[in-house]
Amino acid sequence: MSEVMSVTRAMFDDVMVPNYNPANIIPVRGEGSRVWDQDGREYIDFAGGIAVSCLGHCHPAMVRALTEQANKLWHLSNVMTNEPALRLAKKLVDATFAERVYFANSGAEANEAALKLARRWALEEHGEEKQEIIAFHKGFHGRTFFTVTVGGQPAYSDGFGPKPGGISHVEFNNIESLEAVMSSRTCAVMIEPLQGEGGVVPGEDKFLQGVRDLCDRHNALLIFDEVQTGFGRTGSLYAYEQTSVVPDILTTAKALGGGFPIGAMLTTQAIAAHLKPGTHGSTYGGNPLACAVSEAVMDVVNTPEVLQGVKEREQWFRDALAKINDKYDVFSEVRGRGLLLGAALNDKYKGKARDFLTAGAEEGVMILVAGMDVLRFTPSLVISDTDIQQGMARLEKAVARVVAANA
Ligand SMILES: *Cc1c(COP(=O)(O)O)cnc(C)c1O
Repeated sequence: MSEVMSVTRAMFDDVMVPNYNPANIIPVRGEGSRVWDQDGREYIDFAGGIAVSCLGHCHPAMVRALTEQANKLWHLSNVMTNEPALRLAKKLVDATFAERVYFANSGAEANEAALKLARRWALEEHGEEKQEIIAFHKGFHGRTFFTVTVGGQPAYSDGFGPKPGGISHVEFNNIESLEAVMSSRTCAVMIEPLQGEGGVVPGEDKFLQGVRDLCDRHNALLIFDEVQTGFGRTGSLYAYEQTSVVPDILTTAKALGGGFPIGAMLTTQAIAAHLKPGTHGSTYGGNPLACAVSEAVMDVVNTPEVLQGVKEREQWFRDALAKINDKYDVFSEVRGRGLLLGAALNDKYKGKARDFLTAGAEEGVMILVAGMDVLRFTPSLVISDTDIQQGMARLEKAVARVVAANA
């Protein structure tokens, strides 16, 4: 057997495109909500690989599904269908408003499919004039050129030449700002029911209902981007279930694969009919390995115990964060739903979210940020009470360090 090459973080700068700036440590192993780096240092994972690892690391149900499928069949492409893809699609259809499923490999690709489908639907049902896509400031929908342009952070889409057209942005949680730009030309409204990257900001119930009403009035499709909020993250399989609103198209990824790359777009039969053979596709979409893992994840996540457990864990997180805040006075509020929580820093610590993340890693707890002013928590949906308590003890030390440094 040939020897395995040894690797250091310094190599990143020598061999990788510099679009990321990864941490100094290299994790090599994970189990549940614990991760170990090359030096054997342990971390408690409150980040879940950015809202992906919904059952923690190396969950036995996922390992079993992956290895079983790995010994059967890896790939055929969409020239043929496969059993895991059809089983997963059937389960998604049975569990949601949707009647049809399209598989992709990421959230951006699921959104790309949703946007292309909306344009097709509008063209064929209503004609060329109806092509305007409306989305929200600070929204995030992925990094393909179409999805990043629909996203509401121009800094991410600037600098790449001419952008896809017919896209405009309005203010989240402000129904008047949407109403002002909606018309018969509006093809679709794309929205996260709870903005994740944009700062963990829940869409208010009345606002989301208002968006649905405006879409109905102007014959526009409502696309819910549930890439981050979906698959149990907020305490129901999808976040829309906790609102009075049902979307026309829903996209899902991140937790959908529990750590294996997969995305999906869900919609009704009538809308799906506009993606006729040849109109869209993907080499890997619906890959048997990805679908087998996702099916196993769904069998665990879509149960009353796990979904109810998310609500319970939300409370544990909120209680622990409140206790830290009582002592150190760093947060102005803790917001979000289920295990997609954001602790907004108060004025004194505005712009310093990264400092907390760095101090956390040094104390052995992995957290995320959402912008420069919000600490974000997206742990495993089945994280244990012990892991939460110990992780919070480490976070408290990290907070104490940042507070001391700013005294
Ligand atoms: C992460 C995310 C995406 C992009 O998903 P990728 O898998 O990185 O392409 C899209 N929308 C939302 C809401 C997300 O959080």
